[in-house]
Parts: sequence; structure tokens; C-alpha cells
Amino acid sequence: MRAFAIPMRTRFRGVTRREGALVRGPAGWGEFSPFPEYGPAESARWLAAAYEAADEGWPAPLRTHIPVNVTVPAVGPEAAHAIAAGSGCRTAKVKVAEPGQSEADDLARVEAVRDALGPGGRVRVDANGAWDTATAIRVLRALGELEYAEQPCATLDELAEVRRRVDVPIAADESIRRAEDPLRVRAADAADVVVLKVQPLGGVRAALAVAEACGLPVVVSSAVETSVGLAAGLALAAALPELPYACGLGTLSLLEGDVVRDPLAAVDGVIEVRRPKLDEEALARYEVDGGGWRKRAAEARAELDARPVTPGAAL
Ligand SMILES: [Mg+2]
Repeated sequence: MRAFAIPMRTRFRGVTRREGALVRGPAGWGEFSPFPEYGPAESARWLAAAYEAADEGWPAPLRTHIPVNVTVPAVGPEAAHAIAAGSGCRTAKVKVAEPGQSEADDLARVEAVRDALGPGGRVRVDANGAWDTATAIRVLRALGELEYAEQPCATLDELAEVRRRVDVPIAADESIRRAEDPLRVRAADAADVVVLKVQPLGGVRAALAVAEACGLPVVVSSAVETSVGLAAGLALAAALPELPYACGLGTLSLLEGDVVRDPLAAVDGVIEVRRPKLDEEALARYEVDGGGWRKRAAEARAELDARPVTPGAAL
């Protein structure tokens, strides 16, 4: 097990360094990078994903390239225009509902991004659960045509109410942290689209089982991983029977560096489906003492032994 800490270009979830561990097996390297606040029970699924990558590898891909979205942070309209125009992506995810910003700021940012992408561009917004239902309904109506609105409100009941009252499709992201959650989302009529991430669901096969059981269109997103972890997200996106939306896997640019020589970065809005090799020279730049991660992995391992991740079993 090798541990890394890579500085982030942009603060994310309150962290300024993305930390994790890499495990090696007969199939290659796997990434184990649960967020700092996650305990052993939650981290067990992240570890299962790392073991799958290292021990088994992934199901055969059905496609060779995965379209990804550019993410436009809560910046002013001119900066937003430049980010979208310079990305090469045809789909943009625009952050909205940030504290300290007005609805007019959100409208201006979305309009600027729409303008930058031009005809045929797709714009989605992400509120990270920050709106109440009245605000979500008012702002989404004002924003006009969108590909979808990601997590406009925090709870399933709120999402369901907003979904009933606006024409914009609703995507669930933060509402999904466990394998059972997408089925709850569906049962509550709370979303039209689910955002799935490999590590929290316990691996590519587990995520495929979740997608099949849920039946809603899937957007595969990263947990802001190195290219070792992103490769698993690409494998999931490549193995899904249908992939109607661009994925949220273009996140490597959030990190200052990577642990491979040939990173999984987006080119012209797509990422090639492949599995880059770990590079010792690249890792050396960010390697840290692995003692803490060995302890976290051992604790997660005990949980995993007690309750193994069996794809589809909880569904
Ligand atoms: Mg989101």
C-alpha cells in the first residue's frame, strides 16, 4: 500500500489536499481514498472498489471514449464564459446556489455559459442541495431550458416536490451514498437521473448492479480521484448499457498532479477509456507515510470481512 497527498488547485469539501492510498494486485493498482470524515463502515465499500481494481479488473468496455462535462464554479459571467468556451466540452455543469451569491448572479452565469457553448451545447446546474423548494422552483423556472438540475434541494421529499412543479429534469447526487439509495430515489419519484460514483458503491460491478436495479439514466461522477481511481469511473461509464449524458469524470484538473505519466485528462470534451500505469517518478512527488492509511484500510477490511460487498445483494 502506497499513500499519497496531492495539493488541490481548488478547495473541495473543505480539503486542500486530496489524500488516499493505492493498493496493488494481479490486475493492477486500485485507489482507496475515502474522505477524512468517513469511518470504517463507510470506508469498507471504498476498499472493496480498490480490491476489485487490483484483484479482478473490470467488465469489458462497450465504448472507447466517454464524454465529460466542464464544471463552472460560482464565478462571474465573464469568467464563466471563458471557462466553458475554453474547455472543449459540449456539456457544462454550472454551480449555483453558492452562499453569498444572488439569484441574479446564478442567472447571469448560466446565460454566459449557454452563450459560450452555443447551439447544441448542454447546460446543467448543480445546487448541491442548497435551495429550499420555493427557491428551487422559482430559480429553475427562471433559468429556462436545462439538461437537468442536480440536487436542487437536500431531501428526497423536497426533490420530489420540485420535480413535480418544474419541467427541468432532476438529478440526485448527494442523496446517493449507499447501494440502496438509488432505489429510494426512484421509489420517492425524486429524480429523473442518478449520479453514481464507483468508490462509495463498492466497485464497478456493484455500481452496475445498482444502475440496473434502479433503472434510471446514470451519470458517472468521480470522487476527485487520481487517474488510478478515475480509470474505475471510466470503466463503469464504458460498461453501462446506455450512457445518455456526459459524465463528471473530468476532475483531474482539480488536482495539482497525478500518480501516472499519462493522466486521464479530457481532450476535446472526451476521455479515452484506458488504464494508465502507475509511475514511480510521479508518485514520488506526492508520496507520504502510509501508516495512517494502513490503519484505516485494516479497520475497513474488518468491516468488509464482516459484511462483504456482493454486487446487487442489497438491492
Ligand atoms: Mg453534484
